[in-house]
Amino acid sequence: MVGNFHSMIKEIKEYAKREDVPIMLDDGINFLTTFIIKHQVKTVLEIGTAIGYSAIMMALSSPNLKVVTIERDEERYLEALNNIKKFNLEDRITPIFKDALDVELTEKFDLIFLDGAKGKNIDFIEHFEKNLESDGYFVTDNINFHGYVAKDESEIKSRNLRGLVRKIKNYIEYLKNSEKYETRFYDIGDGIAVTSRKEIR
Ligand code: SAH
Ligand code: MG
Repeated sequence: MVGNFHSMIKEIKEYAKREDVPIMLDDGINFLTTFIIKHQVKTVLEIGTAIGYSAIMMALSSPNLKVVTIERDEERYLEALNNIKKFNLEDRITPIFKDALDVELTEKFDLIFLDGAKGKNIDFIEHFEKNLESDGYFVTDNINFHGYVAKDESEIKSRNLRGLVRKIKNYIEYLKNSEKYETRFYDIGDGIAVTSRKEIR
């Protein structure tokens, strides 16, 4: 069974490569699954399912973990449904096909993983902070955005990309200056931020 899982994961990664789906890098996945185990995370909300890779990796890392995951692209959502079924994880992973900012949830989560549109992270935090347990964490992927965040703006030729990088920098400043939250930045994978409420620590 474990050997089979291994080849199924390989297939998902190959699909992602072929179809240009930006799934999390290995180092990032290792960080995330280690974090889940270390902090005894039981419930995760993920923004940006893509094809279900990170949700599946999180669920496999911790046998009782429950994941609610949101995706707005129909083709990816359908592929995620397929993949979740293949791993028999339908009882622990709940995919939602919608724009995350249109999703209203009442339950609270130990971890909210932000891996959707990179320019929308402040909106995601403000929309979902009511769904974060008081001692919960936001984990944000792609804080380095393929190294562009560290570059000088003049080096970035595309106007769209420059705009996106500016938004990520703005998000980093937002986290650093927040009175509510404190954040640690990790140079792992494509850059990861771990954010928790100040009053609790
Ligand atoms: N977490 C995945 C990769 C996600 S890629 C993994 O590592 O396996 C980012 C995904 O977020 C894309 O598929 C994109 O369609 C989705 N997305 C971006 N903005 C979104 C939004 N506002 N609501 C829902 N999904 C969004
Ligand atoms: Mg990502």
